[in-house]
Amino acid sequence: MSNFEVRIFGTGSAIPTNSRLPSSQIVTINDRHYLVDCGEGTQIQLIRNRIKFSRLDAIFISHMHGDHVLGVPGLLNSLSMYERTHPLKIFAPAGLKDVLDVIFAQTHSYLTYELEFFPLEDYKPGAVIYKTDKFEVSSLPLEHRVFCRGFLFREVNKKPKFDFYKAKALGVPNNYFKLLKQGNTIQLADGREILPDMVLGEAEPPMSYAYCSDTRFVEKLVPYIKRSMLLYHESTFLHDMKSRADETYHSTAKEAATLAKMAEVKHLLLGHFSARYRDLTPFMEEAKEIFSNVQIAREGQVLKLKELTESNE
Ligand SMILES: [Zn+2]
Repeated sequence: MSNFEVRIFGTGSAIPTNSRLPSSQIVTINDRHYLVDCGEGTQIQLIRNRIKFSRLDAIFISHMHGDHVLGVPGLLNSLSMYERTHPLKIFAPAGLKDVLDVIFAQTHSYLTYELEFFPLEDYKPGAVIYKTDKFEVSSLPLEHRVFCRGFLFREVNKKPKFDFYKAKALGVPNNYFKLLKQGNTIQLADGREILPDMVLGEAEPPMSYAYCSDTRFVEKLVPYIKRSMLLYHESTFLHDMKSRADETYHSTAKEAATLAKMAEVKHLLLGHFSARYRDLTPFMEEAKEIFSNVQIAREGQVLKLKELTESNE
């Protein structure tokens, strides 16, 4: 896989601040883009970050709250201005379709491309909702005040790679490596045949990224996100506001870290911070008491999963 990265556009919650925008991020896999949530201002962030609109293949919307969805109509409209012609897939709660129909009708807008709408209600939690030959996206059962789904991006069909040391141990000269990598059987000067399978290493574990926003602490998520490379989990509040978190079906930094620990993920990224907090250091401190490999998400941040994998070895 040539690349698998997550780019953060918005780390705020319901109300934007002068440093935090509403939720949105781009997952880029093999140079194709997948937008995850689309709060107001997302298309400006796409432009600022030089994301090519033509490479946007699908949009995933977790739930129908304004800070996750209000950027959608403007973005879809702009794609028409760019005269997009290839279809765009959108996975979202069914209500978004009604909203878009009204907005487009009342603003006399029409799309130059086909919008393929897939209601998330049609899929059971854990079901694969999108698939290519390299990765798949499945839905995660989040628990918020309204119907809400998270998303798990996960590599599939990961093939074992050529193992230089195995080839050397078998006495294969360097000039045969290319043929073996291409899947050819070779014959050595001493008459031994070397099959490509004989020089393959272990397949690396698949890289995966779990997006969990917005949700209260949900223990049943653990098997779905078990051993993910990167978990983005909302932490709208610090734990001293646990009762407010419960009331609003949000999580605290402590709860996000607890879930990361239970699921044995490799890295935790905290986001969706309430506008009441200016300094986010206490989120880091609170989470670190439970789970050490934690970062605070910030606008413009790029996380390359391959680098995270290596930093962990
Ligand atoms: Zn939200």
